[in-house]
This record gives sequence, structure tokens and C-alpha cells, in this order.
Amino acid sequence: MKILEVKDHNHMPPINRYAITWEINTLCNYACDYCDLHGKDVSTNHDKVVEFINYVGSHKNVKLTLFGGEPSLHPDIINVLKNLNVKVEMYTNLSRRLDFYKEVILVKPDIELETSFHPSREKFDTFYEKVKYLADKLYKLEVVYMLDTAYPTYREDYEKIKKLRSDRVSTIIAKVEHSGQKSLSEEDECWYMGEQEGKDLTITYEQDGLVQSTETISNYLFANRLNQFKYFLCGCGVHNIFIAYDGEVYPCLDYRRREVDPYFNVGDDYEEEFKKISTKEIVCKMNSCSSELGVPKKRILSK
Ligand code: SF4
Ligand code: SF4
Repeated sequence: MKILEVKDHNHMPPINRYAITWEINTLCNYACDYCDLHGKDVSTNHDKVVEFINYVGSHKNVKLTLFGGEPSLHPDIINVLKNLNVKVEMYTNLSRRLDFYKEVILVKPDIELETSFHPSREKFDTFYEKVKYLADKLYKLEVVYMLDTAYPTYREDYEKIKKLRSDRVSTIIAKVEHSGQKSLSEEDECWYMGEQEGKDLTITYEQDGLVQSTETISNYLFANRLNQFKYFLCGCGVHNIFIAYDGEVYPCLDYRRREVDPYFNVGDDYEEEFKKISTKEIVCKMNSCSSELGVPKKRILSK
């Protein structure tokens, strides 16, 4: 199968959102075995980043994702939330006390949380009590259960979490990858696959000389190694950007991870710089794409 084009439903008209992901710190209290995103850095120029994000928000329909590390550990997180004038989603492992999340809702009532449960780091019951409370309070809550085969209660835990689903609460189960992982039994694999719901992407591809389109999920591209978009024209910059803890602005998480030169720093003349990147798609330089799969991309070279 040769992928020709990828589109995410969220990027289709008439929704004209602009996605900003801000790695407000790489600091995390969990250090999960399967994670290469945690470190010790904390944003110190966060006021400048907030100013930049609000500037973009005054021109575009911005959805900001606070990303880490664990964003809730940033020492000034409550003030950051207070000062942001855009729609915010925050990733969190939910390790802080419930009072903290109550304060977050107080200062940012329309905040969305994407929470993740890591069985090697926390007791399920503690996590569950917090999610249960938040499920009633939040405008939008996503609960991601990380399936680690060393903790075999995943089926019963996840079934319990699924009971919280509503038009505001969604749930996902995702296998973790680290050296200690065992394969699932045939029955559990079947159950797991059955839990992979939703179709977030439309892909156009060529197979046996025919060009066809289908709806699918991002995991399908990963599982079949179809996330190779080198030399594709990608909408990063036009549709989204990634801001690192030090204020460097990149097209996406993959560029940030591989330390390709950033577009600019929020300390520069960001108005001019942002105008340049937000009007021009880029030609992807990465061998594989692991982050913003759904940002529109189109093959431009025949390979
Ligand atoms: S909680 Fe999240 S950010 Fe922290 S180490 Fe685990 S996967 Fe990484
Ligand atoms: S790696 Fe980044 S630039 Fe390349 S296709 Fe993926 S999202 Fe786009």
C-alpha cells in the first residue's frame, strides 16, 4: 500500500482550529519505563510563551495542549492557566491531589483534561476515585489506560473506567512498549483490538494501480509502518506548532525530539516569524512520523 494523502477529521473544514502543543516542562514524577519524554527541564520564560500563545489566539481559533513531562508540576501552572486566553487541554498523570484539580477547574472552568493511568506507578483505586470525580465536573475528559502486561487486572480496571463514558468522557486503552512486555493471550488480544474504537483519519492510498480512500485510526498507520512521510508536504506550521520548554518553536514533536533547528524562539520578533511559518506548508525531513499524524499531508514526490 502506498499512502498518498492523510487527513484528520479535526482539520477538515469548517473547523479552522490551530493546534499548539506546549511542553511546559519535561519534568515528571513518574519516569515510566516506556517513556522518552520525561526529563528535568522546566520552562522559565513561560510569561513570554503565554504572551505568544495569546497573540496567536487573537488571530486563530487556538486549541492549546499543555504537554510534558507532567505539566501539572510546573511551579507556576495556576498562573499560567489564569493568563491563557485560549482553549486549553492539559495532559496529566493525575498524580496531584484532588484539591489541585479543583483549583484548576476554578481558574479555567472550560479546561479539558487528558489523564493517563500508569499501573507501575500508581494504584488503580486512587486514580479511579479522581477520574470519577472529574468525570462529573469537566467539560471534556479523556482517560487513557496504559496496558502493561505485568499488571494483569487491565480488563477489569478498564471495564470499570468505561462505565464513566458519556458525551463528555471518552476512554482509550493503549499497550505500552518496553522490554518486559509479554504478548497478550489470543483472547485478550481480541478483546484489546475490539476496544480500539473511532476513526480519526482519512487516508488516500494506491494499491494494485487503484487509488482509494478509507477512514481509519492513527494506530493502523503505526501498526503497518505506514507513518513514513519523508518528502511529503505537511501542514505543520499552517495548522499547528510545538513549543519546547525553552521557548523554541518547532513544526511538531518529531522535529523537537531530533533537535532539528527550530523555526524561532518566542523571545524573537515572533509576529514576523509566525506570519512566515503559518502561511507555508513544509516538506517533511523525518524518516518516520510519530506525533501529529493527522496534520494534513500529501505525497509530492514519486518514490
Ligand atoms: S507519566 Fe507520562 S510523561 Fe511521565 S514518565 Fe510516564 S509517560 Fe512519561
Ligand atoms: S514528522 Fe512532523 S513534519 Fe513530518 S509528517 Fe510528521 S508531523 Fe509532519
